[in-house]
Amino acid sequence: MPAHPWLADRTDRFDSSGIRKVFDLAAKLKDPINLSIGQPDFPAPPALKEAACKAIHDDLNGYSPTQGAAALRDRLQARVDEEWGHEGRKLLVTSGTSGALNLAMWALVNPGDEVIVFDPYFVMYPTLCEMVGGVPVVIDTYEDDFQINLAKVEAAITPKTKLILFNSPANPTGVVASAESTRGLAELAKKHNIALLSDEIYREFCYDGALPSPARWNDQTIVVDGFSKSYGVTGWRIGWIHGPSALIDKMAALQQYTFVCAPHPLQHAAIEAFHTDMSAQVDAYRERRDHVVAGLRDAGYEVAPTGGAFYVFPKAPAGQGSASEFVARAIEHELLVIPGGIFSRRDTHFRISYAAPMATLDRGLEVLRRLAKR
Ligand code: PMP
Repeated sequence: MPAHPWLADRTDRFDSSGIRKVFDLAAKLKDPINLSIGQPDFPAPPALKEAACKAIHDDLNGYSPTQGAAALRDRLQARVDEEWGHEGRKLLVTSGTSGALNLAMWALVNPGDEVIVFDPYFVMYPTLCEMVGGVPVVIDTYEDDFQINLAKVEAAITPKTKLILFNSPANPTGVVASAESTRGLAELAKKHNIALLSDEIYREFCYDGALPSPARWNDQTIVVDGFSKSYGVTGWRIGWIHGPSALIDKMAALQQYTFVCAPHPLQHAAIEAFHTDMSAQVDAYRERRDHVVAGLRDAGYEVAPTGGAFYVFPKAPAGQGSASEFVARAIEHELLVIPGGIFSRRDTHFRISYAAPMATLDRGLEVLRRLAKR
């Protein structure tokens, strides 16, 4: 039954009950150890904040062109051209990476088209797919340490396969797909003439070497990215998408009818990102990754090797019920983490975000150590 008779059927495709349950429980806690947050805990760099104020005072408060303010778009395009040198690769500034994902789904997926999604997945992927009438085809990666198993991908491809959604470093696992499997996926997509979308929002958070992007092996790869995570500006809503120009032109037209443009003054502020070094923040997150993974393994948790983003996705201890039940117990101990079922067809793991101060991480590890021993 819909919550209101006016609601369209497509609104049945999503709800936020799982995550809401966690936050409702959290609201009751006095001093929560919050390891549930999907955004950096460092503040936006001062130069970006000053540039945002300046852009507003300079009266850059109207619409920007739909494609993006030239000053930002041209810079991003030049960077992409320099990195890839692909003929006809065009870039569009979007309302966050989420905006880019929405435009891509509307532009690419027909009703009945199959979209390959790797489980665990970023929460939006299956829902966005269903919203445009697509059929998510979910490939389980648990047995492969959350890496891409090319044989499973090949087996999942049918004449209806339109798109593969790929995310590395991944939310919620923090896993960076190996260069070998990324290359294999890129080549597989090319061989079968399937669109490959690479969500690289965490590309700056790679701790063991640069991200192997599938665009290296497949010049038709559609790439989405944004400033949200890398500069601590999730609320600014500035992202971008680049790929074959005929696709990007259509997405720009769709943007005109939906988001109109990304926030204009903040596009100007984001140009400061090109002069801002975030390596100290990335180094700090690498250290936290090492600390959290070592602490979890020491306490007996099973954790796949994680090379990026700011998440780890350990298995809930055996014999303690589902991950949701385990997370409910963690919350009783003031520890907030996210049950894996939010990102998965399975309810066996849980997501920890280490975008939190070391002292908070240590408090969290202490609770997890106690819970593992029950
Ligand atoms: N993709 C992934 C994998 C993400 O984790 C997120 C944010 N949680 C997004 C896209 C959306 O980011 P944005 O703030 O740029 O819309």
